[in-house]
Amino acid sequence: MPRALVTGAAGFLGSHLSEYLLGKGFSVVGMDNLLTGDVKNIEHLTGRDFVFVKHDVTNYISVEGPLDCIFHFASPASPIDYLRVPIQTLKVGSLGTHNALGLAKAKNARFLIASTSEVYGDPLVHPQREDYWGNVNPVGPRGVYDEAKRFSEAITMAYHRVHGVQTRIIRIFNTYGPRMRVEDGRAIPAFLSQALRNEDVTVFGDGSQTRSLCYVSDLIEGIFRLMMSEVVDPVNIGNPTEMTIRQLAEAIIKLTGSSSRIVSRPLPVDDPKVRQPDITRARTLLGWEPQVSLDQGLAVTLAYFRQRLGI
Ligand code: UDP
Repeated sequence: MPRALVTGAAGFLGSHLSEYLLGKGFSVVGMDNLLTGDVKNIEHLTGRDFVFVKHDVTNYISVEGPLDCIFHFASPASPIDYLRVPIQTLKVGSLGTHNALGLAKAKNARFLIASTSEVYGDPLVHPQREDYWGNVNPVGPRGVYDEAKRFSEAITMAYHRVHGVQTRIIRIFNTYGPRMRVEDGRAIPAFLSQALRNEDVTVFGDGSQTRSLCYVSDLIEGIFRLMMSEVVDPVNIGNPTEMTIRQLAEAIIKLTGSSSRIVSRPLPVDDPKVRQPDITRARTLLGWEPQVSLDQGLAVTLAYFRQRLGI
């Protein structure tokens, strides 16, 4: 039976990934320091071939026994989180990735780093292809996340080139689904919880900025395909269907039948104006394509938020 380590296992993506791996016949070690993760996300995995270890991966990581795969997903990922814990964000992307790579080398395990579309910063090339180097402000408030992830990509390539570790780099574009926190702060959880409570829906700036939203099950399938492939270069995984944030807010108000109004709030510093993945690489190298439409994905996510909020 193959054995995997998932760092950040109690988070939104880590928990879905752990569950998926168990379904594929993996034995899973899930690690998390619970800074932004929640054990509730993985409680239902107890009793299966899943062990939870509470550990902060910025410190030396010790795992007994063999490991075939390491999925390094530990990191704050919402802008409000990495503004609140900027130093931990930098440390998990740098020291945490170094430790996880050292473990991959020691165990002769494949290693996949969860990178991000934020490596493109506020992009000057649209849609974003993997060979675009990005437009990041290193000293702005988002720089702590963007640069940590850029460093994590660089050290991943160095471990591949110097030590021959089998590495994979996924650049994750905006993803949503059940287990995002009610207070997560990102657009979909914010709009859903505001609309369900009939509170004002807070659109930052004039709402003309765009995002392209991928449902979580599509993303997890892409992660697994990439890990199982031989592709060392970075691969974008995301849904290329692009919309403005105002359109998203309107769609959520309509879906929930809410009486909420849209109100404008200041645009965060360095908020990217556009974002859309070019997924040619994922399509051709992994045979991957998103399957879940925004309507389908939002319906499932809405049901989860209704249950969480008791509405
Ligand atoms: N956004 C918004 N209202 C909110 C939360 C987010 O208008 O309550 C905007 C945010 O400024 C950005 C977009 O929605 O332009 C997506 O933000 P999110 O935090 O989901 O992720 P990002 O893509 O910025 O990492």
